Amino acid sequence: MKVAESVSEVRTWVNQRRGEGRTIGLVPTMGFLHDGHLSLVKRAKAAGHAVVMSIFVNPLQFGPGEDYDRYPRDMARDRALAEGTGVDLLFTPSVEEMYPRALQVTLRVGDLANRLCGLSRPGHFDGVATVVAKLFHIVEPDEAFFGEKDYQQLRIIQTMVEDLNLPVKVIGCPTVREADGLAMSSRNRYLSPEERRRAAVLSRALFDAARRCREGTTRAAELVQSVTQQLSSAGLEVEYVSAVREEDLGQVDQIDEPCRLLAAVRVGDTRLIDNVALEAGKGMKHVAAYVDR
Ligand code: AMP
Repeated sequence: MKVAESVSEVRTWVNQRRGEGRTIGLVPTMGFLHDGHLSLVKRAKAAGHAVVMSIFVNPLQFGPGEDYDRYPRDMARDRALAEGTGVDLLFTPSVEEMYPRALQVTLRVGDLANRLCGLSRPGHFDGVATVVAKLFHIVEPDEAFFGEKDYQQLRIIQTMVEDLNLPVKVIGCPTVREADGLAMSSRNRYLSPEERRRAAVLSRALFDAARRCREGTTRAAELVQSVTQQLSSAGLEVEYVSAVREEDLGQVDQIDEPCRLLAAVRVGDTRLIDNVALEAGKGMKHVAAYVDR
């Protein structure tokens, strides 16, 4: 595995692979790798790409008072995991390499960002869109792999690619979970053992709603209320629970088209998010994908 810290090394390496007739798959991450990240690498490898993984904790997407400084970092461990999973090029730029000076030109995301996580994290998705656009221009991948775990982010990136005609295909990949259902996340590391136990209620409540939907409860308010109640009973502080259309993340009253049920909670000081697919009569699709793993 080659490790590159500069944009120019990445460009040279990518040009060499292209010269050999390879296609390029990109997996952008903030590091502190877990099986969720590695599943994206495996997917990119299965597609036959030379795989570039980036590890960059992007200051632009953290708000004041968020966890930029204490975000977990372990580059030695990440290198070993990336290499063991078959990453071909690991791109680990410094902040100075990515942002040699304050940016004069950035991306601004519209209504897709003014909801769900965007309400409590103003500017977050602008920072995500800007850094992902930079990574797309640096690596020029054929395909880029993102997790459904961050569903709003995935839809925003897909929409950015459409709106700006970026020549890359964005592939959404299923959420990888711990044995008790908790979505894997670098931030799970913040949880105390007691918080970790309670955190499992988040996925449990969402899966329960997916089951109810499959069994005929198609009124969004009923599903949202039931999830909210289960989360609150477990002592999780609910930031939002929302049923939205997959297409534009707009709120729905009835689940009669492809929808997602998303939630954000706080467990102690830690903010956790998760989501499940809701398809009336087909609510088990997502659960089946999870169980099959
Ligand atoms: P992060 O390092 O948290 O920015 O995540 C980097 C990429 O990995 C994003 O596309 C995430 O959606 C994806 N990802 C994070 N956690 C998971 C998970 N549990 N399952 C699948 N993908 C994930």
